[in-house]
Amino acid sequence: ATPMSIMVGIGKAAQSGILIRNGEALQTTAKITTMILDKTGTITAGKPTVTDVVTFNQSDSTEVLKLAASLESSSEHPLAEAIVNYAKNQNITLEKVSNFNAITGQGVIGTINEQSLLFGNQALMKSHNIDIAEAIPQAEQLASAAKTPMYFAIGNQLHAIIAVADPIKEDSAEAIKRLQNNGIHVVMLTGDNQATAKAVASKVGITDFIAQVMPDDKAGEVTKRQSQGEIVGMTGDGINDAPALAQADVGFAIGTGTDVAIESADITLMRGSLHGLADAIAISGATITNIK
Ligand code: ADP
Ligand code: MG
Repeated sequence: ATPMSIMVGIGKAAQSGILIRNGEALQTTAKITTMILDKTGTITAGKPTVTDVVTFNQSDSTEVLKLAASLESSSEHPLAEAIVNYAKNQNITLEKVSNFNAITGQGVIGTINEQSLLFGNQALMKSHNIDIAEAIPQAEQLASAAKTPMYFAIGNQLHAIIAVADPIKEDSAEAIKRLQNNGIHVVMLTGDNQATAKAVASKVGITDFIAQVMPDDKAGEVTKRQSQGEIVGMTGDGINDAPALAQADVGFAIGTGTDVAIESADITLMRGSLHGLADAIAISGATITNIK
């Protein structure tokens, strides 16, 4: 493309809230064959709220919330924020936590009043030998309703499941359909569990999804698709999406996301809507056609 047509394309995109860093990104965008989308904060709003507190072993739900929220007050994960806000809204006073540790892709651990606490997913419970068999049917039911169930244990005993739901952005399904109508294969990647991922993917018309992806493995998924001959676009909002955004042929950051994601991406969707993807592809296509 001529420098002039590239400038026109970048300017046109900017008017729609699509910030394109350079001419190469603009020209590659129309050639994307696979678009990988992060789930949380990209397809969904990224603002999870607590929906269910299910207790086991005669636990008290207020006590469970107090301990879980105290633990989460040291974490910066969006799930942590949901738990802390929920407890605060119920005027629950938080306690001091010692030995706090956040385990990436799994959850959080710590000590309160000499009780060791664990809060997170199935993998976290498994690695600490907590028996969650009695809770699995309910966890699966919550997950199939697109909620994310988290397990809370004291010592080596399960005390509760706390579930959160993150609403799907109202235009995600339609925006994904536009990509698919352009012949693009759409894939969803998430650190969340299989059943929740499946429920969200099916609500937005995605059949190819990968759940329980560890943060470090997202870029590997991009590389894998590239080695299969795909021109890969990656869209994400989080710190853990940054390596995948950099690895992709074109990385798209959600403008409301983290600075690290924006810095690693080639294109920023200021409006946060996934419609920006099909819009960018259309502008890219027009730019390439104009140069012939
Ligand atoms: P996502 O990409 O969905 O944000 P993460 O890799 O950050 O996924 O986390 C994967 C899973 O690990 C979460 O769905 C949750 O079950 C568990 N997890 C991670 N961080 C926390 C936390 N601070 N509190 C509770 N659970 C957590
Ligand atoms: Mg995310």
